[in-house]
Amino acid sequence: MGQGDTSRDTAALLRHLNNYLREHPVTGPAGHSYISNEPRPTAVRPGLPINVRIIEHIDRTVAEVAAYTREANPRAEPLPENVEDVYRWCTENTLHAPEAVQQRREVLEYKHLLEHTVVAGNASIIRPHRCPECRTFGLMWDRMKQVIVCTNAECVDEDGLSTTVSFARLAHEHVAARKRIRDVSAT
Ligand SMILES: [Zn+2]
Repeated sequence: MGQGDTSRDTAALLRHLNNYLREHPVTGPAGHSYISNEPRPTAVRPGLPINVRIIEHIDRTVAEVAAYTREANPRAEPLPENVEDVYRWCTENTLHAPEAVQQRREVLEYKHLLEHTVVAGNASIIRPHRCPECRTFGLMWDRMKQVIVCTNAECVDEDGLSTTVSFARLAHEHVAARKRIRDVSAT
C-alpha cells in the first residue's frame, strides 16, 4: 500500500462514517458541530449508542488532524467545511514541511485508517500487524475493553497482564517499516 493510498482510504472511511451519521443523526439540545476546540476524551465508551460514539470519534479525528496541521504550519488555511476534506486540507497545508514532519502525517493518517476501520466494525484490520513487543502476529481488538491486545501467552508485562498496544504505536511501527522498505528500494 503506497502512502497516497492510505490517504485516500482514510478519507473514504471517514466519509463512510460521516454518511452513517447523516442517515442516523443524533438530535441533542446542543446539536452537533464537528469544528470544535473542546478537548475530547480518548477512551471510547462501549455503552454509548453507536452514532454518539461515531460523533465523538469524528470530532477527535478532526481535532487531531487540525492540531497536527496547525503545529506543522501555523499559517494553514481555515478547516474545510466538509469533514471528508480534512486529510486533503492537511496534506495541502503541510506539503512543504520537513520530511520528519511529513512522516508524522503519514503516521497520523495510518492511525486513523486503523481507527476508522475498527469503529466501522471491521476489527480484522488489526491482525496482520506484528506485535511491537514480541514481533508475532497475535494482536486482536478487545471490543469490551476497547484496546488492542496481544494474544501471545508469553507476551505480558511484569504483572502478568497481556500486552496492550496503542493505535499510535501500531501506526508508528507500520510507517517506520514502510519507510525502511522505501529507503532500501531507493538505493
Ligand atoms: Zn506480543
